[in-house]
Amino acid sequence: MTKKRMLFIVLGLLLLINAGCSGSNESRNETKARAKTETASVKTAQGNDRLPNIRILATGGTIAGANQSKTSTTNYKAGAVGIDTLIEAVPEMKDIANISGEQVANIGSQNMTNKTLLKLSKRAAKLLASDDVDGIVVTHGTDTLEETAYFLNLVLKSDKPVVVVGSMRPSTAIGADGPANLYNAVKVAASKEAYGKGTMVVLNDRIAAARYVTKTHTTAPDTFKSEEMGYLGNIADGIYFHNDITKKHTKDTDFNISKINQLPQVDIIYGYQNDGRYLFDAAIKAGAKGIIYAGSGNGSVSDEAKKGAVAAVKKGAAVVRSTRTGSGVVTPNPDLEKENILASNSLNPQKARILLMLALTKTDDPKKIQSYFEEY
Ligand code: GLU
Repeated sequence: MTKKRMLFIVLGLLLLINAGCSGSNESRNETKARAKTETASVKTAQGNDRLPNIRILATGGTIAGANQSKTSTTNYKAGAVGIDTLIEAVPEMKDIANISGEQVANIGSQNMTNKTLLKLSKRAAKLLASDDVDGIVVTHGTDTLEETAYFLNLVLKSDKPVVVVGSMRPSTAIGADGPANLYNAVKVAASKEAYGKGTMVVLNDRIAAARYVTKTHTTAPDTFKSEEMGYLGNIADGIYFHNDITKKHTKDTDFNISKINQLPQVDIIYGYQNDGRYLFDAAIKAGAKGIIYAGSGNGSVSDEAKKGAVAAVKKGAAVVRSTRTGSGVVTPNPDLEKENILASNSLNPQKARILLMLALTKTDDPKKIQSYFEEY
């Protein structure tokens, strides 16, 4: 072999080795890069697959409220911010659930009507029936939140978690409670333990049953209380359920939102010293099919109010005594029962109204209506 030929062979070998090396480097890098992308996409896909799908139905309220001033927590505009902004404000929700949202309404909940309530409930029912939805969060003004929550609790036919949430400080305020409440609501809606608990209300790190919770304070963030009957659980990073609700709800009620397209007029009359029968007469004249009397104490009815109540029953309306005290059971009163004036059990007047509307979609039999008040 000539020196020249040997040199060529060595050069060729070096080139080959080099080419081989760079080639394998390239492919290793490519493989690594591809692996990285694949891992990423697999991870994302698995992550998404593993996370529950939670749909947020937004209806307005302070949680979507905005104020010019960061320090004022009154006189703001409720329902000023849309669902996308609400979701963007709490990106951490995306670590615990696949979040999607839709705007059902954007109102202060004092303006919640039967029509909007039906629309919201029907939408929730449709979503719950879908395999793509694992739970629902409803954002809502706090003023009538308990009424909507109790309605959903009675008409939705699903075990999937439904959580109603609000806030007491507008989204623009220092110390706004909306983001933490919303995050917690999603956390509860996304949890397996929340299945079959009925509609829940989540604010201030507490999980309450829609049946028992009520708003107790005009402005304080810890306004929602369920003290007499207790909370279902609390949230301290993790979710801790302590109790179950004994009253019938969701799948165990006689009411199915898919069959309800209209609700009868049910009015509430407040009991007070010197009250009279004329508000009963006025309610019946205005088309009421049911009347809740928010009586004093254990649902006491004044003699004058009783005249109005008896006349209303004679006109075919259902009359139910509740209490203005804020807690306790309104027990049956034999004298009033004789007149078919019913008792609300432990439902406050605003929730007794919700149940009576639903009851009247099924029956006008006082005994049957009374049984609903015992069971639900
Ligand atoms: N009145 C308004 C509402 O119920 C604001 C109260 C609130 O959300 O805290 O929507």
